[in-house]
Amino acid sequence: MKYISSIPGERDALPFPRRLALMGCTGSIGSSTLKVLEAWRGSGKFEVRALAAGRNIALLARQAEEWRPPFLAILDKEGPKGVDALRAMLPSGYRPEIVCGKEGYALLASLPEVDMVLSAQVGAAGLRATVAAAASGKTVCLANKESLVLAGELIRNICRRTGAVVLPVDSEHFALFEGMVGRGENDIASLVLTASGGPFRTKDAAYLKNVRPEDALKHPNWSMGAKITIDSATLMNKGLEVIEACHLYQMPVRDVSVVVHPQSIVHSLVELADGSMMGHFAVPDMRVPIAACLSWPYLLDGRITGIRPLHLAEIGSLTFEEPRLDLFPCLDLARRALAGGHTVELNAANEVAVARFLAGDIGFTDIPALVRDMLDDASACQDFRLNDGDLRTQVARALDAVENADAATRRKAEQWRP
Ligand code: NDP
Repeated sequence: MKYISSIPGERDALPFPRRLALMGCTGSIGSSTLKVLEAWRGSGKFEVRALAAGRNIALLARQAEEWRPPFLAILDKEGPKGVDALRAMLPSGYRPEIVCGKEGYALLASLPEVDMVLSAQVGAAGLRATVAAAASGKTVCLANKESLVLAGELIRNICRRTGAVVLPVDSEHFALFEGMVGRGENDIASLVLTASGGPFRTKDAAYLKNVRPEDALKHPNWSMGAKITIDSATLMNKGLEVIEACHLYQMPVRDVSVVVHPQSIVHSLVELADGSMMGHFAVPDMRVPIAACLSWPYLLDGRITGIRPLHLAEIGSLTFEEPRLDLFPCLDLARRALAGGHTVELNAANEVAVARFLAGDIGFTDIPALVRDMLDDASACQDFRLNDGDLRTQVARALDAVENADAATRRKAEQWRP
């Protein structure tokens, strides 16, 4: 089996206690991770060394008071969400080091006293931390799929150089990982990602034209951050996941398919060479893949983590259907971006489109229209090969190239009119 990095077996597993940096601790994945850690507090398995938030400094202050890590990071240096404001919320006698912005996030993700980094900031903002963690040889529990969408080849090459390990937190990719471990490359015929289909699976084109943000934010099965919830409603999330799977498992895009499975119980399937399939079944709860990545290759007792057991007879039936590409073109747009080397433009256009939709500035069906126009306009594609020279310089150059392409597309996408 080909994988983005070598998979740690029992012999080379990280020792306990694992010392963690949680990037995006105030988000949905970050909060679920802290719930897992809370359940295992006192077990001696995990230590929280660093917490990184964006602008929700009130929640960060509460988390920091609870976990007392020596390092914190936030987005702003100054102002009402800045360092002084955060420090004023912390209990007296607790004086962590507080760093800010992109450089601050990269610093926390590469601290020598950290060996495992949860990358769960949202969107392109997560790239610097993922890359810094990989470049310093950490074990990266990767929720931020956008990192691989933006720079999958770069991250793969960095892992090859540093020996960093990437464990997939995204439930579909974790399901594939479980189905592939122990298999040889020739055993795997294809990968099948399951999709819930989102809240509008059964609707028609006329309905989609009038969808409001509050409708799209109601996901039938998962409770997640706003951006990924909208991505699930447009099926862009599945498109990003196809790209993520191609990078993680080095599969050609033609061998990664999508099937809609509205119950979200089978989290993805691996088609084996003998014609059989291996599926991963679990309740739709992100604590399952989070706990498994934190403790890989060992399993944590789900009753202690707080995972509801799966009662298949209660669920009754599991159904599967084709995605409706005519109504949800984002899936094909993502495949097209991957084939053309324009995934940076895809991601930037989508982030702007989602933000504009949530702000009431464009409609739901304008999201794929905006993304398509940005892809039509995309020019040069990135080259992420690394040579034997200095890793830091090459990585810095590659990140600048990604961020320049990202910024250029965002500027155009902000100006786009339906
Ligand atoms: P949320 O929106 O709930 O949380 C996002 C986190 O990122 C928050 O901690 C937020 O900080 C921080 N953040 C936001 N903007 C910035 C910025 N500019 N710089 C630094 N940090 C920032 O997102 P989710 O937890 O839902 O998703 C996180 C990632 O995990 C995404 O990439 C998503 O695709 C992926 N994922 C999520 C799943 C889920 O179930 N939620 C499932 C699989 C993958 P603050 O709030 O303090 O501003």
